[in-house]
Amino acid sequence: MTDTAVSAPSRSVVTEIPGPNSRALLERKAKAVPQGIPHQLPVFIESAHDAIITDVDGNRFIDLGCGIGVTTVGHTNDAVVAAVREQVGKLTHSLFGTTPYEPYVRVAEYLAKHTPGDHEKKTFFVNSGSEAVENGVKVARRHTGRRAVAVVEHGYHGRTNLTMTMNYKPAPYATGMGPLASDIFHAPGSYPLQDGLNGAEAAERTQYYLEKHVGVTDLSCLVIEPIQGEGGFIVPAEGYLAAMQEWCTEHGVVMIADEVQSGICRTGTTFASEQLGWVPDMVLSAKGIAGGMPLAGVTGRAEIMDSVHVGGIGGTFGGNPVSCAAAVAVFEQIEADDLNGEAKRIERVLRPLLDALAEEHPEIIEVRGRGAMLAIEFIDPSSGAPIPTAPIAQAAGLDGVLVLTAGTDYNVLRFLPSLAITDDQLREAVEVIGRAIASTKTA
Ligand SMILES: *Cc1c(COP(=O)(O)O)cnc(C)c1O
Repeated sequence: MTDTAVSAPSRSVVTEIPGPNSRALLERKAKAVPQGIPHQLPVFIESAHDAIITDVDGNRFIDLGCGIGVTTVGHTNDAVVAAVREQVGKLTHSLFGTTPYEPYVRVAEYLAKHTPGDHEKKTFFVNSGSEAVENGVKVARRHTGRRAVAVVEHGYHGRTNLTMTMNYKPAPYATGMGPLASDIFHAPGSYPLQDGLNGAEAAERTQYYLEKHVGVTDLSCLVIEPIQGEGGFIVPAEGYLAAMQEWCTEHGVVMIADEVQSGICRTGTTFASEQLGWVPDMVLSAKGIAGGMPLAGVTGRAEIMDSVHVGGIGGTFGGNPVSCAAAVAVFEQIEADDLNGEAKRIERVLRPLLDALAEEHPEIIEVRGRGAMLAIEFIDPSSGAPIPTAPIAQAAGLDGVLVLTAGTDYNVLRFLPSLAITDDQLREAVEVIGRAIASTKTA
């Protein structure tokens, strides 16, 4: 990068937010784009590199969101940009199901190698996380010949008809947009802060629900995020996931890890299920897999994946060659550069800073998560009511830090920085967030 503005290491707010150029674009957006597509920060982005995004008025923000954990290797990661540039001049599309190309197979091989377990695996590609979930469910149903699909409370799986039915929260994702899909069951999961159960107890509760309310002989799959994303970075109690996998295996149920947000070196292992002691039957990846390009993978036990007849899965754009080339560049860095070590470094720096914030602000009742996927939850200590975090995120945004909210009760701040973020940028960002918390209390 030769442009010093985009490679500069610190935030810099040089206009009011939004600045005049963003203001003009916001007016155009309001006329041309439906209100259902919101924006958290009222600025338009011109460019970005590593952990810094620059808006059309020249303001620089420290990005703790990564487009929801997508640009994990850094915005405009040099190797990803080079791979995309090279591939785009060679082949942009051919439809893998008619005339295949190598990068698709290469990424499938990387996923077989890097997802948990050393059993034989196969992968096919689609365009989004939602589509990966849809296809995982389709394959599980075909494999088992069963109709029911189970998920756990506080989960998030997407915005298509099937996946919006699978979400724990109907609002805002499905409000007024039914009829929803049938045969979806929301079982209690493991949320240690709220339920106080250990892994074995929580698993027993989930199993009881599935046995009594669904019926295992009708259950095709159980889909779980190893660390829940939109739910607020909820890490299940130790042993919960392994106990559920054991139960699923015993009953012929396909257990699917929705690693769309937690995967690709986000948590300090390439997939979060690995460090939580879980070897899933199927692993879904998307968000971070192609360094900012759209791509999603469905990886599973070979015998499960091969249960689908010829032509039963696929799609026009799935596994686009440019996206696959970008994903190859991501996996090359995973193998060469210890990206999991970077996620652990971020946790080493960020967690104590968040612990200190929690000490200063008693309404922060928990600091949780793993690696570069950490969150703080806000509860009013006197009333026990959740404190919405949107005003804090808003105040931080005006001060040059982009941080995302999460949580079923909208009372979580989540930190999903790029692995390229520096220690100094993390410190600066948390300082800004501390000020934002204080300012919303006095406001
Ligand atoms: C974002 C997300 C999805 C949906 O992915 P899209 O690409 O937005 O369709 C599914 N599952 C999880 C866990 C996610 O975080």
